[in-house]
Amino acid sequence: MSVPLVEIDGDEMTRVIWAWVKEILLEPYIELRTEYYDLSLPVRERTKDRITAEAAEAIRKYGIGVKCATITPNEERLDEYGLSEMYKSPNGTIREILDGTVFRAPILAKGICPYIPTWKKSITIARHAYGDIYKNVEAAASAGDSAELVLTSSDGTVRRLPIHTFSGSGEPYDSASGGIVQAVHNTDASISSFARACMNYALDTKQDLWFGAKDTISKTYDRRFRDIFGGIFEAEYRKRFEEAGIVYLYTLVDDIVARVIRSEGGFIWACKNYDGDVMSDMVATAFGSLAMMTSILVSPERHYEYEAAHGTVQRHYYRHIRGERTSTNPVALIFAWTGALAKRAVLDDLPKLFDFSRKIERATLDTIGSGVVTGDLFALSSLTEKRQVNTQEFLQTVAARL
Ligand code: NAP
Ligand code: MG
Repeated sequence: MSVPLVEIDGDEMTRVIWAWVKEILLEPYIELRTEYYDLSLPVRERTKDRITAEAAEAIRKYGIGVKCATITPNEERLDEYGLSEMYKSPNGTIREILDGTVFRAPILAKGICPYIPTWKKSITIARHAYGDIYKNVEAAASAGDSAELVLTSSDGTVRRLPIHTFSGSGEPYDSASGGIVQAVHNTDASISSFARACMNYALDTKQDLWFGAKDTISKTYDRRFRDIFGGIFEAEYRKRFEEAGIVYLYTLVDDIVARVIRSEGGFIWACKNYDGDVMSDMVATAFGSLAMMTSILVSPERHYEYEAAHGTVQRHYYRHIRGERTSTNPVALIFAWTGALAKRAVLDDLPKLFDFSRKIERATLDTIGSGVVTGDLFALSSLTEKRQVNTQEFLQTVAARL
């Protein structure tokens, strides 16, 4: 490898497995050249979280990163790690710096059957990660309150749009006639960047792109999403999609949901922020296990960060430090590494490295297909001959197959 891979280490059980994956599956076979960033919580504390921004800048510099799961601090973590501040989610910080879109795709293996029997290929969910209810302004309204949407333009012109008047007679039976209001926003720039990220990724992976919103009801807000996607597609992508033999489909989000269920998979589903939040959990569960879900952050400049979709698997970590051998599933972490290595190989024209990363993936899937699985998959596997192993045994079985 000539250009280093940006390696971003993390916390708890995934940090432990991170080291094992390198030691058992990578370092014996390849000369791994990485630029290492330790985003474990103690280092974030020591650097006042500067390390997170530095890791993101390194991805912008070198183009490709691979990231371990990291703790997003909450009140409990503040005490547990003696933090001086409630640091922001590292993924949020990195996503902001890269202005990236997250693509999540399940890993399919023999014996692990999706709950939807027609699903034969993976479904990749692309979630727009800006705005809507995640940056909302909301308030409770009392009976008698009037709510309006007010827009003040830069020249001082004011537009007022009535939302609702919460009627209330003041009579006791009418006491609950207040309610709630919410304002949400998005920007053309963010929607455009999301559209381009999805279309680039569709071309990269040669998969169709589906997008659904509710523009029949939301004639300005959701309509803008539809128009921006459609406009960018016509102006910049139609020809390239045709050449690649893939299609862009827009339809109402309810229609998309129905089509997804009837489909055999093998496409990218672009989702508005909330739809992506909800549907990614549904799709992950329907395909089997969170531990089999990969996550790729792609920036508009085509910088890539590969990671597992799951967290630091805290409960397993506490068992691990008590000396127990846990059966934590390392598959999504392995695929984060192989995804990043394969991408590096393509960009740097290193066919042997590409081949090697695909071989690790094959060996991992064959291990599961032969019935050797971690605890989470043991319960799911439909194979009649199966055996539950701990994490290290699983990694060693994969290495033996390599
Ligand atoms: P989690 O670490 O994903 O774990 C939730 C549960 O899912 C686990 O307790 C485990 O169930 C199961 N699980 C997840 N990954 C597994 C694997 N590889 N093998 C086997 N089972 C697996 O989520 P969490 O407990 O909500 O969060 C823990 C920490 O991770 C938090 O501090 C959070 O901030 C952080 N987090 C980080 C990221 C990220 O960096 N991308 C994402 C999410 C959460 P059982 O215990 O029942 O076996
Ligand atoms: Mg969710």
